Amino acid sequence: MTHDTTGGIGRRTVLRTLLGFAATIAGCSRGTPADAGGGVAGKGGAVAKLDCAHDAWKKVLRPAAYAVLFEEDTERPFSSPLEKEKLPGTYVCAACALPLFESKSKFDSGTGWPSFWAPIAGHVATSTDFKLIYPRTEYHCARCGGHQGHVFDDGPPPTGKRYCNNGIALQLVPEGEALPTLRGCPA
Ligand SMILES: [Zn+2]
Repeated sequence: MTHDTTGGIGRRTVLRTLLGFAATIAGCSRGTPADAGGGVAGKGGAVAKLDCAHDAWKKVLRPAAYAVLFEEDTERPFSSPLEKEKLPGTYVCAACALPLFESKSKFDSGTGWPSFWAPIAGHVATSTDFKLIYPRTEYHCARCGGHQGHVFDDGPPPTGKRYCNNGIALQLVPEGEALPTLRGCPA
């Protein structure tokens, strides 16, 4: 009888090693695709969509941020200072400033990307992409549509979800600071 070590240290170590080689190709991929679920309750809710021409965002975003948010690029793993960030606060969309995640749902996934077990309820929306061989669940800002990352079913409790986010697509607003005003379409 074999012993199932799935999820154990060995698997993580192997995955971490593999990720070093494969990450830039596979993005956040580590486990199985997931349906989006959960959401941090108490804040959030329905969001009015902001429908800007994608090109307009080039005026206010750095090229690397634009490439992730509006061309679905993936940043290099371990490249974002937000990956190890532990300050309490709210992570907002780097394009339109909609709050997307609370720091209390952030965890260290070891993948090299900021990871969360739930978004702020209603503030991210999902779609399925087929950029790799298998389908993945892509998620984006529910307001401006800016791509944030992919969600997987191998996250920690309480949701079991892992929202694997590009750090460059987020901005951290430390606790105690006012959230930025939502940004309209760049003129
Ligand atoms: Zn946004």
